[in-house]
Amino acid sequence: PARGEVLLQATKVSKRFGGLVANNDISMTLKAGEIHALIGPNGAGKSTFFNMVSGVDDPSSGEVLLAGQAMTAKPSRVFAALGLGRTFQHVRLLGQRSVVENVALGAHLRARRGWIAAMLRLDRAEEAALMAEARRQIERCGLGAHADTPAASLSLGQQRVVEIARALAGQPSVLLLDEPAAGLRHLEKRALSVLLDQLRAEGLGILVVEHDMEFVMNLADRITVLEFGTVIATGTPAEVQANPRVLEAYLGG
Ligand code: ADP
Ligand code: MG
Repeated sequence: PARGEVLLQATKVSKRFGGLVANNDISMTLKAGEIHALIGPNGAGKSTFFNMVSGVDDPSSGEVLLAGQAMTAKPSRVFAALGLGRTFQHVRLLGQRSVVENVALGAHLRARRGWIAAMLRLDRAEEAALMAEARRQIERCGLGAHADTPAASLSLGQQRVVEIARALAGQPSVLLLDEPAAGLRHLEKRALSVLLDQLRAEGLGILVVEHDMEFVMNLADRITVLEFGTVIATGTPAEVQANPRVLEAYLGG
């Protein structure tokens, strides 16, 4: 996709759980070559929104467009096939398997129905191609020296990067990251920022849900702030930081 092209668009997306409005008419866009951060206090509706733009859940109303296509009722593998890659809030790696094996599994999730079925049907040539692609993504993410190390022996920061490499193995144009900086030490956050900068420069659109304000302020091109399921501010980090409603939501007025 060309830089600046809209990759993901949410239009008046709402989600109700019984009487609770978890997301209330949320509209936002994600463009190629941009990092857009979604922030807000606990319970603001960030995960709910993330689930709807990644095909885990459907909106009660409103619409999500991915690569120009309406996504309501589409299964998550169709989201993957249209260019969406994601990581999860909690690390999901097979700790005893090597980094390259963990990343190779991700390459399956794109077009195939399920990776277990796909693995069973793989011939030697396909498996070799898959492992080669996994190694390329591990190099791209700066973990080449650890490709054959068991995932569990890496630091939390490195494991988060492995998860990003795994998402990248599906050749996404949109990357969704759920709290990638949570629990990381300062230097690990710096390393993660450098990687995300690089991926943005390569033209990916990155939507990041994050609690860590400082991390987001230094990284994002645009920030959308949620409170009680509603967008209370959107703009550049400087605009959002100066917004009285945001100060109130974060500092309790
Ligand atoms: P955040 O990720 O910003 O912390 P969530 O999206 O997880 O917020 O939650 C937003 C609101 O929706 C909360 O009040 C939460 O309790 C509620 N909620 C989330 N998921 C469900 C669900 N599956 N069923 C009922 N309520 C839910
Ligand atoms: Mg959440």
